[in-house]
Amino acid sequence: MNKKILSILKKIYSHENGFYNAALNRHEHKIPATITASDLEVLNNSGFAPNQFETFDHHHALERMLKLQQHKKLTLDFAAALFLKGLTGEMPRARQTLMSYLYIKHLFKHNFSGKNTCEICGLPATETIDKTHQLYTYYIGHSWNEMPLHFLVELEEAVTFDMPTISHADKQKSAELLAFIEAADKQETPGKLEKRIAAHKILDQTDKYKRYGILQTLAECGILPNTFIKPKYEAFTIQTDLWKASENLTTSFRSDIILPLGGWKGENGVDRERYAEIFGGL
Ligand SMILES: [Zn+2]
Repeated sequence: MNKKILSILKKIYSHENGFYNAALNRHEHKIPATITASDLEVLNNSGFAPNQFETFDHHHALERMLKLQQHKKLTLDFAAALFLKGLTGEMPRARQTLMSYLYIKHLFKHNFSGKNTCEICGLPATETIDKTHQLYTYYIGHSWNEMPLHFLVELEEAVTFDMPTISHADKQKSAELLAFIEAADKQETPGKLEKRIAAHKILDQTDKYKRYGILQTLAECGILPNTFIKPKYEAFTIQTDLWKASENLTTSFRSDIILPLGGWKGENGVDRERYAEIFGGL
């Protein structure tokens, strides 16, 4: 996705254009009058046509994710290298892949259990997604650990990317971030950490939520440790256990940031060994 495509999509996917289509049970966007026929042609020719809907059911989504587990390109090194390029701000799109990779790392075959959302894996029973919109959110630099169906859309594009070359400067940037996090007061919350990072302009091409996304990924790696749940790098926590752990977090930590990042405090520090395990090979 180049800058031209991104700027056209920005006009379409601004908040004001979005609405919920109850009849079709999906979120849609209107094409604003400022979008020309040639703009639409650019989008269509690049594979990023707006309102590119696909309906997923639990069984097939899970099957596709388990297939990605076996994908030769989708290794820890590949996902970690992309994340570093996202962290530096060079490739904001690359921020999500490690998170998606960690979700499928220990995912296992099972039958749907529950009502609308699977109580085991958190995938919906069925859901319609605008794939272009979802990818657009990644191209502007967002990443998150909820709504696992989105990871499928993300990974199926990510495996088409080349393995990035990691430079000394990329490694220095992540070293700078870790040292900065380690300088936290014992009582520092993830919210305060984010504000400190913002004030010192440590992370390029970010806003508050994009910084949360980067920190949440470090938490899912176990690099920012917590005592409430195992990070996805270590094990797959089933959805019902995650809901229970989140209740404990709300009562004891009063954090408005979800797990595992919500369970981190300054005194938990940084797990340097884990960092070396994941990023040391690059
Ligand atoms: Zn499931």
